[in-house]
Amino acid sequence: MSKTLPLVFTAPRRGMPDKHLADLDAAGRKEAVQGLGLPAFRADQIARHYYGRLEADPLTMTDLPEAKRAEIKDALFPPLMTPVRNVATDNGDTRKTLWRAEDGTLLESVLMRYSDRATLCISSQAGCGMACPFCATGQGGLQRNLSTAEIVDQVRDASAAMRDGALPGGPGRLTNVVFMGMGEPLANYKRVVAAVRRITEPVPNGFGISQRNVVVSTVGLAPAIRRLADEGLSVTLAVSLHTPDDELRDTLVPINNRFSVAEVLDAAAYYADRTGRRVSIEYALIRDKNDQGWRADMLGKKLHKALGSRVHVNVIPLNPTPGSEWDAAPKERQDEFVRRVIAQGVPCTVRDTKGDEISAACGQLAAEEN
Ligand code: SF4
Repeated sequence: MSKTLPLVFTAPRRGMPDKHLADLDAAGRKEAVQGLGLPAFRADQIARHYYGRLEADPLTMTDLPEAKRAEIKDALFPPLMTPVRNVATDNGDTRKTLWRAEDGTLLESVLMRYSDRATLCISSQAGCGMACPFCATGQGGLQRNLSTAEIVDQVRDASAAMRDGALPGGPGRLTNVVFMGMGEPLANYKRVVAAVRRITEPVPNGFGISQRNVVVSTVGLAPAIRRLADEGLSVTLAVSLHTPDDELRDTLVPINNRFSVAEVLDAAAYYADRTGRRVSIEYALIRDKNDQGWRADMLGKKLHKALGSRVHVNVIPLNPTPGSEWDAAPKERQDEFVRRVIAQGVPCTVRDTKGDEISAACGQLAAEEN
């Protein structure tokens, strides 16, 4: 007698990928290769391929025993993500990549080549739970945290693209990494800090990018800023403040309801004290919302009081999300704003917004794809 089987619709598995080499520190790598029956020295050998030669397929690592390569691939190099599309602008100097992770999750990274450096903007989460109303990523909510390897592999791919001359100007080197793509990095704290270590430690433990050239941004998770200050790192902290008063910030950056402007600036000052690094304050200038002269004065005063000379303000002309009510402030308003912040003794410049034409406001490519 035949049995009727129930129809089962399996939803795509949402979750982090299996453990990858880039998730592991030196001790973890050793343990993993020994678990495969290999001598410990193979751990560094494999890591040199990954971090030094930017190679992620053990089948091509010809100095590994041939019979073991497939096993190493299965155990340490699970598939992480594949590019869905690359979009270029600025005469090819900017390249935005939309990635699909193994579970279908979308994430983005943007590679920008300047005359003196190449900067990669990476995602630390798929989506974001911080719900800033002017931001495309914030509208979709948080899908999930990215694994350390998913963060690190964005850097490996861009380093290889620079080495191979994928952007106009011939072969070059990836020099800077900014955690300013999708997500709130400090809400995925442990994996982000592990990724920072892999990005900055020298080969075979990492890519060897200078800590001074790495920026970790945050909307102001004050306790996590203090924790980061105690990690012994010297990366730049960028705080997305967007307004100096709690009343407006409570709506512009909803996490402000938990950590007020004063608490965020206190934590930023602690970071500056502990690391000796100047803190960067990000200010997306939005027409008729936060672009008034009196707000520029208040911003300058509060920053000067909290941080003295250990601060720099980056004014970012808002990159409007299609169909949204939020718009960039007019140029004259922007110039006046910068002038008034500087008048309070705080350095302030306007960020060069590469990638505007290609939806470089975080989350726009992914929003279009969804
Ligand atoms: S602006 Fe940043 S923190 Fe706010 S929702 Fe967008 S990605 Fe998240």
